[in-house]
Amino acid sequence: MSKPYIGRFAPSPSGLLHFGSLIAALGSYLRARSQNGKWLIRVEDIDPPREVVGASDDILRALEAYGLTWDDEVLYQSTRTEAYLAQIEQLLLKEKAYYCRCTRKMVREMGGSYDRRCFHLSEKLNEGAIRVLNDSPVYQFEDKLKGLVNVPLIFAEEDFIIKRSDGLFAYQLAVVLDDHYQGITEVVRGNDLLDATCRQISLFKILGKDEPDWLHLPLASEKVGFKLSKQNHALPIDINNPQKTFQAALLFLGQPEVELNSDISQMVAQAVLQFELESVPSAHEVLI
Ligand code: GLU
Repeated sequence: MSKPYIGRFAPSPSGLLHFGSLIAALGSYLRARSQNGKWLIRVEDIDPPREVVGASDDILRALEAYGLTWDDEVLYQSTRTEAYLAQIEQLLLKEKAYYCRCTRKMVREMGGSYDRRCFHLSEKLNEGAIRVLNDSPVYQFEDKLKGLVNVPLIFAEEDFIIKRSDGLFAYQLAVVLDDHYQGITEVVRGNDLLDATCRQISLFKILGKDEPDWLHLPLASEKVGFKLSKQNHALPIDINNPQKTFQAALLFLGQPEVELNSDISQMVAQAVLQFELESVPSAHEVLI
C-alpha cells in the first residue's frame, strides 16, 4: 500500500506572495488535495537579513484569501535550529562534513566548483563555513511532470555548504531535514529549484533518509529568462478580489477555468475536482 500523500508549500518570508509564488502554492495545493492528501505550510525563515517584517503573516493571509487552507500547524524553520545543529554535529563527527574557509573568489578560481581542499588539510579547520562531503553525487532524477531531468555535473558533484560562514544554516540542509521531519511524500515547487534537487537527493542519501518524489512547475516569466520574483519586484497578488487572479493561475497551470463564485472556497473545490497533472505545461517557463 502506498503512503498517504503529504505535500507542502515552503515560502521564504522575504516579501509578499506574487503571481509566481501563487503558482507554486496553488500547484502544490491542487496536487495534494486531488490525491486526498495533506497540505502543509513551512515558513523558511532562516535568513533574518533577507526577511521582511510581517511578510510571513501576510503570506498566510494571502493563502487564506485564495482559499488555500492548510493542515496542521505552520512550521517555522527558525524553531528548528537545534535539529539542524545536531545533524551538523553528527556529520562533523563522522567526517562527512568539514569546515572550509575558502572565499567565493577562491572557488571561482578553482573553476566554479569547490575542489574539497579543506577536507584534505592535515590540520583540520574548526571554524568557517561547513561543507558536506558529497560522496553521493546525483546527476539525474525523475520528475513527475518532466520525466528524467539531468543536472550539470559541476553542480551535482560539489561539496556544498550546509552552514554558512556567517553562522546561518544553508537552505539545502534545512529543506531536506524539514521535508523529512514533516513526512513530505512529494515536493511540488518551481523549476528554479531543479538543480538544487540533485543536492537535496544527495543529502537524503548521505543522511540515510528516504527521498520524496519531485514535481517541478513552470516558472511565470514576463519575458524569456525573467521569472517573476521578489528581486525583479513582482507585484503582490490582490488579496481583496482573488477570483480573477485565481482563474489566471489555473489557466497558467493548464487547468480549465472554474465557475466564478464570490465564495473562493467553492472555486478551489471545483479546481481540485478538475485537476489534471497531465495538462500542466512541462516547459521550463511560461510567459504571462
Ligand atoms: N523557500 C524557498 C523559496 O521560497 C522554496 C523552497 C522549496 O520549495 O523547496 O524559494
